[in-house]
Amino acid sequence: MQEKKSKIQDRHPMPEQPANVRRHNFLEVPLGYGEETAMAEATRCIQCKNPQCVQGCPVAVPIPQFIKAIAEGRFSEGIRTIWEKNALPAVCGRVCPQESQCEGQCILGKKGSPVAIGNLERFLADWERKKGDGSLPEKMAATGKRVAVVGSGPAGLTVAGDLVLKGHDVTLFEAFHKPGGVLVYGIPEFRLPKAIVESEVKTLEKLGVNLVCNTVVGRAVDVKELFEEGFDAVFVGVGAGLPSFMNIPGENLIGVYSANEYLTRANLMKAYDPAYDTPMVVGRNVAVVGGGNVAMDAARTALRMGAESVKIIYRRSREEMPARLEESHHAEEEGVEFMLLTNPLRFDGDERGRLTSVTCKRMELGEPDASGRRRPVPLDGSDFTMDCDLAIIAVGSGANPLLTSSEPEIALNRWGNIEADPENGKTSMRGVWAGGDIVTGAATVILAMGAGRKAATSMHDFLARGW
Ligand code: FAD
Repeated sequence: MQEKKSKIQDRHPMPEQPANVRRHNFLEVPLGYGEETAMAEATRCIQCKNPQCVQGCPVAVPIPQFIKAIAEGRFSEGIRTIWEKNALPAVCGRVCPQESQCEGQCILGKKGSPVAIGNLERFLADWERKKGDGSLPEKMAATGKRVAVVGSGPAGLTVAGDLVLKGHDVTLFEAFHKPGGVLVYGIPEFRLPKAIVESEVKTLEKLGVNLVCNTVVGRAVDVKELFEEGFDAVFVGVGAGLPSFMNIPGENLIGVYSANEYLTRANLMKAYDPAYDTPMVVGRNVAVVGGGNVAMDAARTALRMGAESVKIIYRRSREEMPARLEESHHAEEEGVEFMLLTNPLRFDGDERGRLTSVTCKRMELGEPDASGRRRPVPLDGSDFTMDCDLAIIAVGSGANPLLTSSEPEIALNRWGNIEADPENGKTSMRGVWAGGDIVTGAATVILAMGAGRKAATSMHDFLARGW
């Protein structure tokens, strides 16, 4: 019997570098839609009267409008529609977890594949960068108010962009030598080319944002001093860059890295590029501990650095893995092996303190724990040891303490995250707002941007009317 044909046309696949080629280079994996494919994909959108996709987007991008603009070839108008709500579409189109947000709500997904909203957002942002007229959004008249934004991740970049457009004099402080936060030091080039972040930052500078790198607020200058220097308001978006460890024997051996350090060396300090002299252990047998996006990024980076074998060690099953499906799929395609229901017990080294092996235990799943996920339970007598000369720990990260430890007036919760009003980002210290990972703990780019936008609205109000 002939299969009945679905009326819903499948979404247009994203062209990609083949797995056997890309595992040897750092170039971007998905290649992007061309104009024709983007227009064809956009015509799949049925323009719902009550669009659920917009409700699934944490910053409520007017998705049907920008998709309609693509379908009709009005690309310049489309990107301007996105900018009303999202200042970093080239970034979000690439790294947002669309499958659980906008695309997860798309009505077409109920019977077939949802509209490729992320791919279309990326298409418009890339089109604008390559072919747009480069015109800048209009700025309001200067207010004479000065704002300090601390941390140049997606939260800080959003606040800086929103407030400079409102006519305020914005200075963006960043501890590293390059702005962008996790977008430049964490997420690898093959997922998010750094030229994209640079171009977003350049736009802010053209708008008048004053960028001050290599400055750790809380050490070089503290928050009170910023007010003494004449700033009227301060936004704190310092992220969750403090790596967590497992506290098992051998974590101090040479060759055991936190994912944070490993990825910073690889991305920000360009260890993969022979033109840079960044020291880094290039493992032959690599073990990456963890099952999130960070673990996938570290594993795929280790492959590209020249590892022969890369294994993800994760103590629960595939179902509980927090990584985006696309990331774990890409990692597996490239040759990363998954050792599920496995937990490291200790790292072993040689007489010179260099990592040589990791000893693990097999696990099984028991009853659900406080997180709602089934608890991994050790299996007696299942210990085994495997060779390993590079281990990367990607089991989470905590609040960055450099600023908060220097300012007792900013109230923290018991994990060291700043307590801020979820509606407007106000902290316990007058004139200070906070948002992004430093408030929520490690989360997502779009949530950090959303928090930045709310804080910027409240800060603008304060600068006009008071606390
Ligand atoms: P950050 O991006 O962490 O930026 C904080 C900035 O503040 C940093 O540049 C830091 O150097 C600076 N800073 C810290 N302290 C000071 C100080 N005292 N003075 C001056 N500057 C300071 N999210 C997604 O949505 N999709 C993904 O695919 C994804 N992949 C990820 C992969 C990795 C490897 C990591 C680590 C995270 C990933 N995330 C992803 C999470 C996402 O990147 C973060 O949620 C987001 O970047 C948080 O933004 P933020 O602005 O709060 O902080």
